[in-house]
Amino acid sequence: MPKADNIGEQNYDVIVVGAGFAGMYALHHLRGLGFSVHVLEAGGDVGGTWYWNRYPGARCDVESMSYSYSFDDDLQQEWTWSKRYAEQPEILAYANHVANRFDLRRDIAFDTKVKSARFDEAAGLWHIETGKGGRLAARFCIMATGSLSTPKLPEIEGIGQFRGACYHTAAWPHEEVAFAGKRVALIGTGATGMQAAPVIARDAAQLTVFQRTANFSVPAWNHDLSDDEITEWKANYDHWRNRERSTHSGFHNEGGHPSIEDLDEHERLDVLEAGWQRGGLLMWNVFSDLMTSREANDAATAFIHNKIRKIVNDPETAELLCPKSHPVGSKRLCVDSGYYETFNRDNVSLVDIGSEPIERITENGLVQAGAEHGFDIIVFATGFDAMTGTMLRMDVRGRNGIALQEKWRDGPASYLGIAISGFPNLFTITGPGSPSVLAHVVMSIEQHVDWIADCLVHMRANGLDAIEASPEAEEAWTAHVQDVAAGTFYPEASSWYMGANVPGKPRVFMPYTGGAHKYRKRCNQIAAAGYEGFVLSPQGEESDTQVLATRRSAQ
Ligand code: NAP
Repeated sequence: MPKADNIGEQNYDVIVVGAGFAGMYALHHLRGLGFSVHVLEAGGDVGGTWYWNRYPGARCDVESMSYSYSFDDDLQQEWTWSKRYAEQPEILAYANHVANRFDLRRDIAFDTKVKSARFDEAAGLWHIETGKGGRLAARFCIMATGSLSTPKLPEIEGIGQFRGACYHTAAWPHEEVAFAGKRVALIGTGATGMQAAPVIARDAAQLTVFQRTANFSVPAWNHDLSDDEITEWKANYDHWRNRERSTHSGFHNEGGHPSIEDLDEHERLDVLEAGWQRGGLLMWNVFSDLMTSREANDAATAFIHNKIRKIVNDPETAELLCPKSHPVGSKRLCVDSGYYETFNRDNVSLVDIGSEPIERITENGLVQAGAEHGFDIIVFATGFDAMTGTMLRMDVRGRNGIALQEKWRDGPASYLGIAISGFPNLFTITGPGSPSVLAHVVMSIEQHVDWIADCLVHMRANGLDAIEASPEAEEAWTAHVQDVAAGTFYPEASSWYMGANVPGKPRVFMPYTGGAHKYRKRCNQIAAAGYEGFVLSPQGEESDTQVLATRRSAQ
């Protein structure tokens, strides 16, 4: 690894922040292209989301045969998933397998949180400082920091006072949490809370679920994969990966869904029932116009309400569980394994905190509706400061010392969700403004890493030193992201996509709703047109060791 001898810093071509699926692939790919790469990771090992989210019932809502890297066919062939939807330990085992197989850990510093990243215009370098006081420099900085990586605790008075055990689902302990015989409060009913509730309920003496907003969920129908299913996937991986790259969501089995207008009453119900029986996230586009036609959305809403009313025995509880505040799909659809059924258990109850919020947390439990409820364990499944939270907690400064906190004061602006004007040579993987959380995220990660890698190779081959999104291109793309979202029901919900779950966060719709396939095409067109919308600058100071290192590795 090249080391600068003049600035007392460890010096690389590329610093990658994060060793989740994005950072791991960025390291592997860029290293293979001859760049010196170093990864900084806050956690104790690889895996990102799957390292932190160890809560009971944690599982991926994307089908396992698909939720994996596609970049290496040997890797695809040698790994065998056990279930339709893989559970957290299996996905973490996969991440570990990848790290071992490609010898990734030798270039990753674990337990190392980035404190600041500052662009030095004179040297054309990013200076990174870590929480441990380490200092590094690199020509390029890639933020592979994930969209859901900063856990959000609720602002409830007295939150530090509780004497029992208290956990956020995204900072779950590595050792087992014993629920047997315990009175457990679960706060939050998003995708995480809905996965955790049925599992906690099986062991706990009593589970009380505190719901602020009812959310839509469809069954996972999770099951062991048969040998035939695995064989079929492995024999046709190329085909399925190409399918993924050609769809709106990045799911191989998306597509062919009718518009509600083409169906009569019976056909609509048949389509909805088929969607429910298939289960999983594809219910999101059970009608092609689910997110744009009120009629389609209302039909799906009524259908799911009826399912909930049939499953849940107590009519009052069922009614509380029926989401009525937002269109189906405008908050992330949840995929459950027995969530609604959980409320038929004698040891489970549901408390509506939408109408009567939790007043405060006490030493013994919490106060709600004027009464104190005692608990042994409180589980916060209250989500994340999503999409921007992690980057904004670092002191990231671009040209002229401008702070990202300042630049994104009114919401994130970016070009393609990859680059930020004023922040040269800084890339974001699955950043705000890209499909990211609205698409198959591993596929989105690979697309971004491949695009960035191609860009760096192009720069190296052409003696280019710096790349920066132009303010005009950034402005146009950011407006486009908003325009496309405005044509859908997404902005109608108070969702984390909108930043609505974090008090004081600007309400701006952050992911790109235009479709992963169209987005990929646009990114490719921009690269083919010589990185249209970017300003590329030739090499600067010859004394800079980094330029030499890059040039040497290109030879
Ligand atoms: P979330 O969707 O943001 O849900 C947080 C829950 O906590 C909501 O029910 C929210 O209520 C509640 N809440 C937040 N602040 C509260 C407060 N102050 N008082 C009371 N309740 C409060 O978070 P999440 O469930 O962790 O999921 C986040 C995302 O992670 C998902 O949407 C999904 O993209 C991803 N995820 C994926 C998987 C997977 O299988 N792939 C699994 C889990 C999560 P409101 O709705 O009223 O805000």
